Amino acid sequence: MFVVMTVGASEAEILGVKSQILAEGLTPFDHVGAGRTTIAVVGEIGSRKPALLERFERLPGVASVTPISRPFKLTSREFHPEDTVIRVLDAVIGDGSLTMMAGPCSVESREQLFETADAVKAAGATILRGGAFKPRTSPYAFQGLGIQGLRFLAEARERTGLPVITEVMEPSQVDIVAEYADILQIGTRNMQNYSLLRDVGRVARPVMLKRGYGATIEEWLMAAEYIVSSGNPNVILCERGIRTFETYTRNTFDLAAVPLLDRLTHLPVIVDPSHATGKRWLVKPLALGGIAVGADGVMVEVHPRPDDALSDAEQQLTLEQFRDMMDAIVPLHAYVRGIYTASP
Ligand code: PEP
Ligand code: MN
Repeated sequence: MFVVMTVGASEAEILGVKSQILAEGLTPFDHVGAGRTTIAVVGEIGSRKPALLERFERLPGVASVTPISRPFKLTSREFHPEDTVIRVLDAVIGDGSLTMMAGPCSVESREQLFETADAVKAAGATILRGGAFKPRTSPYAFQGLGIQGLRFLAEARERTGLPVITEVMEPSQVDIVAEYADILQIGTRNMQNYSLLRDVGRVARPVMLKRGYGATIEEWLMAAEYIVSSGNPNVILCERGIRTFETYTRNTFDLAAVPLLDRLTHLPVIVDPSHATGKRWLVKPLALGGIAVGADGVMVEVHPRPDDALSDAEQQLTLEQFRDMMDAIVPLHAYVRGIYTASP
């Protein structure tokens, strides 16, 4: 439930409500928007609901108490009507600007990463991606350079000024990845790894949570809720396709998720047409599709020589293809932005 305070509620009244919530063994989270504080009451409320509702309503400074039927609370638009805006170095995500995350699937060498980083930066990328710890379907496939890959990413950040995003696969790696990276990525296979979600919820780095390939939108938002309720409000959602019966594409790109999420949550949404399609020639049209339905940005895989890539060779764009895609995305984004800001 959400306790909405009156516009002029005092600090003491807000503290009074929070201490009552804590006394019930529940956790208060507050959000200040439009001059008033809303306190989300999270925890296992169960059958206490009607009694608590009545009690909280009578506390000084309380305007109203709303029961919330949605299972996700802190990530919901009801709790936090304004968009979440995330700032990392010079990049801003979720403020209406175009976020372009680009880079290789895997960091393979310093040269490969620098060549890609320089080219994507020159073409307008705002964030550099690259996998150091790779979740591979086969245990015999290239597993990533690990910590050496993280070091190369940090060097590429120094060189280009771009913040870097990379995947963290297990709780024991969270601290080391957070030491080198600016944004932590949770991959599709780990979307419901709750101990990992809790751990990235405790670090001072934004987290990009990819959609589980078999996850509903509600399960995805509940996974985001784990991170936010652990103390990290800076979560970015990434639609990367889900598994269906279709086999021409690697996954099925769920474009409807983008406007749906815009309604359900305040968190920024990025689309990943590389993993969604698995095919280089499908990346540009679907990146444009993602922008057209209102995504805050795109993540794509780019490699100087995709055919020689150690992972995801078929879906990585060449440097030239990335530039060509950017030439189409930038004006489309400017046009679409006008449409969405004008709509009621
Ligand atoms: C990736 O982006 O490097 C990746 C492995 O993606 P996903 O988890 O979506 O498969
Ligand atoms: Mn990949």
